[in-house]
Amino acid sequence: MDYHSPASFAEASALAANATGITRFLAGGTDVLVQLRSDLVTPDTLIDVKKIGGVSDIARNADGSWTLGVATTGAEMSEHPELGRDWPGVVEAMDLIGSTQVQGRATLTGNLCNGSPAADSVPAMVAAGVTVTVTGPDGDREVAVEDIPTGPGRTSLAKGDLISAVNIPARGDNGGDAYLRFIPRTEMDIAVVGVGVNLRLDGDTIAEARVSLGAVAPTVLLVEDCAHAIIGTTLDDAALDALAAAASAACNPIDDKRGTIAFRTEVAGVLAKRAAKIAYARAKGEDL
Ligand SMILES: Cc1cc2nc3c(=O)[nH]c(=O)nc-3n(C[C@H](O)[C@H](O)[C@H](O)COP(=O)(O)OP(=O)(O)OC[C@H]3O[C@@H](n4cnc5c(N)ncnc54)[C@H](O)[C@@H]3O)c2cc1C
Repeated sequence: MDYHSPASFAEASALAANATGITRFLAGGTDVLVQLRSDLVTPDTLIDVKKIGGVSDIARNADGSWTLGVATTGAEMSEHPELGRDWPGVVEAMDLIGSTQVQGRATLTGNLCNGSPAADSVPAMVAAGVTVTVTGPDGDREVAVEDIPTGPGRTSLAKGDLISAVNIPARGDNGGDAYLRFIPRTEMDIAVVGVGVNLRLDGDTIAEARVSLGAVAPTVLLVEDCAHAIIGTTLDDAALDALAAAASAACNPIDDKRGTIAFRTEVAGVLAKRAAKIAYARAKGEDL
């Protein structure tokens, strides 16, 4: 195996573009190294991105948006004094990943690019409208998070492409987000259903919303019918019921030992309601 630790994303991209066989980027390694050790995937080329300047930075930009380096860990996100105040849903989703040890390494970028339909941070990022900067042989481009996964273990990134930054929008006024998942155990399991909700209020009325579902289809889903169910409402019981119905209707889950199709479909509706209530309360400034 060839191991590289480039000093820039352009160099990393060129290395990946010229590599043969299986290439993996090494961020936290909590997927890559587990797959390597268990003989699931043995890369021919391993490109460690952690020596590139700024990859662990969390920066708030002048317009209120955030730029996170690709090696920023879950622990660094949780410990940041302001990020979680703006985006509690994104931070709590990342914080659900693994154990304390895993939190010290795992990243949003790795969670996204591993391509698991059950990845916890991905629905939260999609609801938040997060984009990633992709550096490729032709330079940089910005891609919405929902356009990265294309199926279990697959992404839209082409040979020579890698993510060079995670861009979280400005929170703005009267907004709130939340992420909830259901797992069969109380700790360290993967999501049977995950739901991210992000909304903005005009007075008590929901003016904007984005709702996304994880683990109920081959890729994360951004469900417009869920947003339409709650926009223009004060999240009353009728809106919550319409939201739950839209979430369940969007599901196309697998049937496995963690949950049947019927169970996942039902739980998606239940979690969508609960996550929306939390996001709504947060948008009103209630401390949840
Ligand atoms: C014990 C344990 C518990 C876990 N629990 C959860 C859980 O509850 N929920 C959950 O969602 N996940 C869980 N995971 C999986 C894993 O921790 C997460 O997916 C994590 O976020 C991966 O991030 P990483 O930085 O370690 O990725 P890495 O292992 O470094 O990389 C993962 C993938 O991303 C690619 N990649 C990395 N950086 C880039 C880049 N800059 N550009 C393009 N591609 C890149 C790699 O090539 C690889 O395919 C768990 C893992 C373990 C070991």
